[in-house]
Amino acid sequence: MSDFKTIDDVDVTGKTVLVRADLNVPMAHGKVADRTRIERLVPTLRELAERGARVVVMSHFGRPKGKVVPELSLRAVRDALSAALDGREVAFAEDCIGPAAAGVVEALPEGGVALLENLRFHPGEEANDANFAAALAALGSVYVNDAFSAAHRAHASTTALARLLPAAAGRLMQAELEALTRCLEHPRRPLAAVVGGAKISSKLALLEHLSAKVDLLVIGGAMANTFLSALGKPIGRSVSEDDMVDTARRVMDQARERGSEIALPSDVAVAAALEPGARSEVVSVDAIPEDQMALDIGPATVARLNQRLADCRSLVWNGPLGAFEVPPFDAGTTAVARTAAALTKAGRLMTVAGGGDTVAALAHAGVADDFTYVSTAGGAFLEWLEGKELPGVAALMEKG
Ligand code: ADP
Ligand code: MG
Repeated sequence: MSDFKTIDDVDVTGKTVLVRADLNVPMAHGKVADRTRIERLVPTLRELAERGARVVVMSHFGRPKGKVVPELSLRAVRDALSAALDGREVAFAEDCIGPAAAGVVEALPEGGVALLENLRFHPGEEANDANFAAALAALGSVYVNDAFSAAHRAHASTTALARLLPAAAGRLMQAELEALTRCLEHPRRPLAAVVGGAKISSKLALLEHLSAKVDLLVIGGAMANTFLSALGKPIGRSVSEDDMVDTARRVMDQARERGSEIALPSDVAVAAALEPGARSEVVSVDAIPEDQMALDIGPATVARLNQRLADCRSLVWNGPLGAFEVPPFDAGTTAVARTAAALTKAGRLMTVAGGGDTVAALAHAGVADDFTYVSTAGGAFLEWLEGKELPGVAALMEKG
């Protein structure tokens, strides 16, 4: 299936391999607050090192806007990277190009790992500048991109550099591309999408693209309220976007023309306010009280979705089905997530999910490890679901 090279296809022994990583990790009090991104990078780094490569890791970190900002030095991430590599030493270069970088790279033994300073300290990175890319390329002889989450940006380290050296996808990039391709380009059908969250306006492109690809489009979360409104149902004080009602209507019309089905909630949990333990009741979507807001899908909707998912073979999920951060409005998302996880475990459903809040909701439901693939890529994942070409992926494909 792959039309891109992986690290299986390149000879790395004794070579200096430049790995574009995403080490833009959340920090608190000068320490790495969440190591997920680092841990996901480790398989590629370890494999390259074990095959005798000199591994040079490069990444952006925050938004220094082309200037040296000491608080955004990647030095702060070095210890966490070293710890994730079982204590393996990680050399640090004070600059990502020029003599400082070259000196550290030349001193690396085979199997050694170095981390370069923040790419975005140079304006050439975000400008996709050819000279800056050439200065990076001068440091090594093979390029590996393991930063799917940065692939929606056409920057020097994600695109121009890929064209200057033999290029391959790292294990994380490979896993992400394989999961997304398997789910959206060559899915086993029926293929369902679950789309939730708060705003249609931020997910319009995604809704339009998915409604053309999937057999069943499940809409939940606050977004569903605007669709219910478009169907002429009163939605009380529910969160919705009045200026998106026509858009919702258009999405439904398009889906009908294409023969894909849209599933909206038939019942919802309502409350007067979004507060923990708020007194809530379940009502039909035809009977949302004027002074209440719909905060979750109801049990009849959950039961129907669970049944429908059992008939599907692939599922892509973005956006929680309710205000899951505030119990009891996590119930719908948790129940559907657990069904999807159980079907995945039983080998009956392929499940791919992504989005910041979606990943948090799956973790909250205790099923983040049971989906086929959970993307931590954020913006790049959403752009893929919108059907956009990601420059960093396109650059790898050209080489394939
Ligand atoms: P993601 O980050 O996974 O792309 P979104 O940011 O689009 O997801 O949406 C998540 C947010 O939507 C959550 O904060 C959740 O509380 C909110 N939400 C979902 N359903 C409702 C609802 N019925 N009313 C209010 N907020 C909701
Ligand atoms: Mg979000």
